Parts: sequence; structure tokens; C-alpha cells
Amino acid sequence: MALQDKDRIFTNLYGTQHWGLEAARKRGNWDRTAELIAKGRDWIIEEVKQSGLRGRGGAGFPTGLKWSFMPKANADGLPSYLVVNCDESEPGTCKDRDIIRHDPSTLIEGCLYAAVAMNASAGYIYCRGEYFNEQNILQAAIDECYAAGLLGKNAAGSGYDFDLYVHRGAGAYICGEETALIESLEGKKGMPRLKPPFPAAVGLYGRPTTVNNVETIAVVPEILRRGASWFAGFGRPKNSGTKIFCIQGHVNKPCNVEEEMSIPLRELIERHAGGVRGGWDNLLCVIPGGSSTPLLPKHICDDVLMDFDALREHKSGLGTAGVIVMDKSTDLIRAIARLSKFYKHESCGQCTPCREGMGWVSRMMDRMVEGRAELDEIDVLENVTRRIEGHTICALADGGVWPVQGLIRHYRPMMEERIAAYKRDHAARVFPMAAE
Ligand code: SF4
Repeated sequence: MALQDKDRIFTNLYGTQHWGLEAARKRGNWDRTAELIAKGRDWIIEEVKQSGLRGRGGAGFPTGLKWSFMPKANADGLPSYLVVNCDESEPGTCKDRDIIRHDPSTLIEGCLYAAVAMNASAGYIYCRGEYFNEQNILQAAIDECYAAGLLGKNAAGSGYDFDLYVHRGAGAYICGEETALIESLEGKKGMPRLKPPFPAAVGLYGRPTTVNNVETIAVVPEILRRGASWFAGFGRPKNSGTKIFCIQGHVNKPCNVEEEMSIPLRELIERHAGGVRGGWDNLLCVIPGGSSTPLLPKHICDDVLMDFDALREHKSGLGTAGVIVMDKSTDLIRAIARLSKFYKHESCGQCTPCREGMGWVSRMMDRMVEGRAELDEIDVLENVTRRIEGHTICALADGGVWPVQGLIRHYRPMMEERIAAYKRDHAARVFPMAAE
């Protein structure tokens, strides 16, 4: 059964109403805020834990547990920080964009609860450089909240002091990695660093910091208002809640939609995106969670569920829930080669396997597109991706090679046929008499 309207958290996802505070309050935002905060930090963390909320930015780490890593009090009297990751640069993903564009109060209110839970005195929303108009809306929404006493000293009459800032990124994919994001926020070049120490110990300006995705924070107010069990009632155990899916590619009606976790992929596409262009049988494959997650061929898409665990069982992932649908007209090898080029371009260059390896993979994929390769080079390519994966500072390199691994895992015959076709064409060009 589809998610009912009464259970939607993002009631203005499509911008049918105004994004401003007055309209947001009518939608239920900022209701009972001081009362909920009065229940205390431990209560907020426990509710979020019980709700089963897992991070919506890709990794799927349990949010309540992450918050509990933050120190309860800082003996030195210096601050802790909340950082919201709105760098949203994963190809195929535009959910956070629509939250800040149409429903910014869900995020701003969520920041206040998160700050109380982690004892943070200030929050920074790191916004992707390309989201220029959205940054303006977000800043205007924050200004409105300050004017209404919902942020700043005694925020929302809760007795808690909390400041919130928008930071404009310059448009680098790698700044979506939490340690690179923190570096960038500090005014340095956005480059990841090795963990530990984790940001909860040493984060922004050397202080305890938690970095959360926009959607993760924005669902918290409704979890606290309606109760953890309400949220946990959607989806399968350990995969609970509602989720914004971004459906695009070869579908009849591309859209963002909030749905129940664990919805079957086919139902998601057919109910909300008007189905695959040319019908379900015209489906070739789906990248289920943003461009870094391995593709799934049609026979898996027929009945796979859209949640963390079901997709992991098929060696893919929910990632950011950016669902990229490809029908049979797709040159799949070329599509994956394009992704390799993207990740090569976005590598920050400090790890050799990523800097050199992604360039090598990209060049090799360009040859695979033409078929200008030997059959055993498919194995060499696979082998190199395994040597890159897990051998770098951050997960960019993993995400860069997973699409290639998915291609080889499921479409090796297609690659072999491309190589064979190239050899046939080549032979016909060089030895035209022999080809007759
Ligand atoms: Fe930079 Fe790539 Fe290493 Fe990440 S894996 S730190 S992007 S070189």
C-alpha cells in the first residue's frame, strides 16, 4: 500500500504552498517545539534511536547512535557543532534540493532538536554551490525564524541558545565527504582526511561535531511529534521510515516522491513515475541509489525492495535513493564509462589508487565502449577495481569503481560482444577481401 498523505513528512515537497514560516506553521512545523525540547537531550536521542532512523545521505548509519557519540558536556566550556551536509552532488540525486527549496522549516526545526541532542551551540548548513537560489531561500527562511524567535537566544522559547548559518560551497563533489566538508567549511581546500579521529571527537575547528544529511535532520521533528513507533511502523525492521526517492531516466514521469521504505522498486517506478518508457519489459537495468551504487539488471528489479538491506543483498545499495532507470535503448557500457569519467574528474588526488586508478579505469572504459580491447582485459579491469576499492582514504574511489564492477558482474557478455564486434569490423576494414 502506498504511503498515505496523512503520513507524509514533506507535505510541501512540490512547492504547492509557500516555503515561508507562516505557511510552514500551518503545515504543522514548529508545533510544541519548546515542549519537546523540555523532555531533554536523552529523550530526543532515545526517540530517534527507537525510530530506527538511518542516515539518508548514503551510508545508512543509525542516527540516534551517531548523536550519542557526542560529549554530553564540554569540560573546557568550548562549543560543539552540528553540520548539515547539503552538498548533494551525487548524480541522480536532488531530494535535499527540494527540501530546502520548498520545505526549509522541516530542516531548520530539525537542526534545533539535533543541536539539543548533541549539545551543539551552533549549526552550519553546507550547501552545494550550484544550489544558488535554494541557498537564498534557506537563508531567508532562517532569517524569518530568527525574527520569530525560533533561533538564536532562547530558541522557540525553549531556554536553549542556538545559532544556524548557511555556508555556500564552491561546487566540488568531494566536499560531500564529511571530513572534506569540514575542511572546506574551515576555509581550506576540501580534502578528506583519515579517520579516526572521528568528527564527534575532533571536528569543525577541532571541536566535537556531527555531520548529518539534510533529509536525516528534516524528518526528526515529525518523529518527535508523532512518536518513534509511528516512524518505525514504515518499512522493514532496521530499514524503517519514509524516504524521498528521486526517480529519473527512462521513465514516463520523472519525479521526487516520499514513500515508505522497503517499497518494491517496480511498484515505486510504476506508481509514481508512470512506468518505464515502452513498458516494464523494455527495462534494461536500474541504478538504485545514486550513480555510485552498482546497477541491477531487470530480473533483480522485478521484485527487489528499496531499502538498505535488500539492496545490499544484491551487492548494490540504497545510497541516496537516486533511482536511475535505463531502458533497452541505453548503451550501458557508454553510460558506465561516463560515470567513470565523472569520478576520475572529482578525485581530490591525494591517494594514489584513486588518483591514478580512476584515470586508468576511465581510459579502459573508453576502450570498452568501442570494444577496442582484448577479452582478458575485462578481468584485468575487474582486478584493478578490486585493488582500488577499500585502499583509499575516503569512499569516493569505492563509489567510482562499483558501477564498473556492477557492469562486469551482470553484463559481461555485452562487453564481450562489443569486443568481438570491434574485431569483426576491424578485420573487415583491414582485410576487406577476407570479409567477403
Ligand atoms: Fe581523494 Fe580519492 Fe583519496 Fe578520496 S579516495 S581522499 S577523493 S584521492
